[in-house]
Amino acid sequence: MASFPDRWDDGTTADGPDHQVHWYDERTVIIRQALHTNFEGPFLYLLIGSERALLLDTGTGHANLRAVVDELLAGRDLELAVAHTHGHGDHVGGDDQFDRVVGRSVEEVAAFFGITSWPDEIVTFDLGERVLDVIPIPGHQGSDVAVYDRETRLLLTGDSLYPGRLYVPDWSSYRSSIRRLAGFVAAGNPVERVLGAHIELTDRPGEDYVMGAAEHPGEHPLELAPETLTELDEALTAAGPEPRRLVHDHFIVVPR
Ligand SMILES: [Zn+2]
Repeated sequence: MASFPDRWDDGTTADGPDHQVHWYDERTVIIRQALHTNFEGPFLYLLIGSERALLLDTGTGHANLRAVVDELLAGRDLELAVAHTHGHGDHVGGDDQFDRVVGRSVEEVAAFFGITSWPDEIVTFDLGERVLDVIPIPGHQGSDVAVYDRETRLLLTGDSLYPGRLYVPDWSSYRSSIRRLAGFVAAGNPVERVLGAHIELTDRPGEDYVMGAAEHPGEHPLELAPETLTELDEALTAAGPEPRRLVHDHFIVVPR
């Protein structure tokens, strides 16, 4: 039975472990790097198939998440692929802990997943009896991808949609990407929950923690309803081509 934890380690247990592991179901793991190791407190995802596993992101590098992943996969004879939702430091910082990691450039990401027409082409990535769809969504960083898991219907969106500050340096690309992602969902790929890579909102609508806060008492849940993607798409469409700060209950768009 798939589930989310009642609460994540929000930094208020500063002497606790450097990570939190949650088995969403028997083949899906959500890992949070503890806030006390780094204020970003990023979330990582481990998706397990019958032939290989995919780890999305490696954290900031301030926690030994390789040991965590090794333990999670112990006893399974699986190839591990390590890729990223995008190439920012808080998601690739642990790369050197792993043996083989997909590079951070558009060219390397496209080559690994077999995307020949970036960013318009959506491709599949087969873990063995578990097919993922990989959707290029540049705009926040440049080599951003979203991952849709057909089995759980979870949509992993990295830093492009999560309950927090969505930084957008490339407004035009970001609008197009969210449009394409919403279109992918509307075209017959139903979403159970949208999962990003951070929590930066409190449990009060549209209210964020200060940048760099060491503790997050009363965090917004990690998981977002699928309607939140629709809401973001419509907000970006309504905002038009000029970058604008958009404060919504479950996300804040911050042009850069
Ligand atoms: Zn990030």
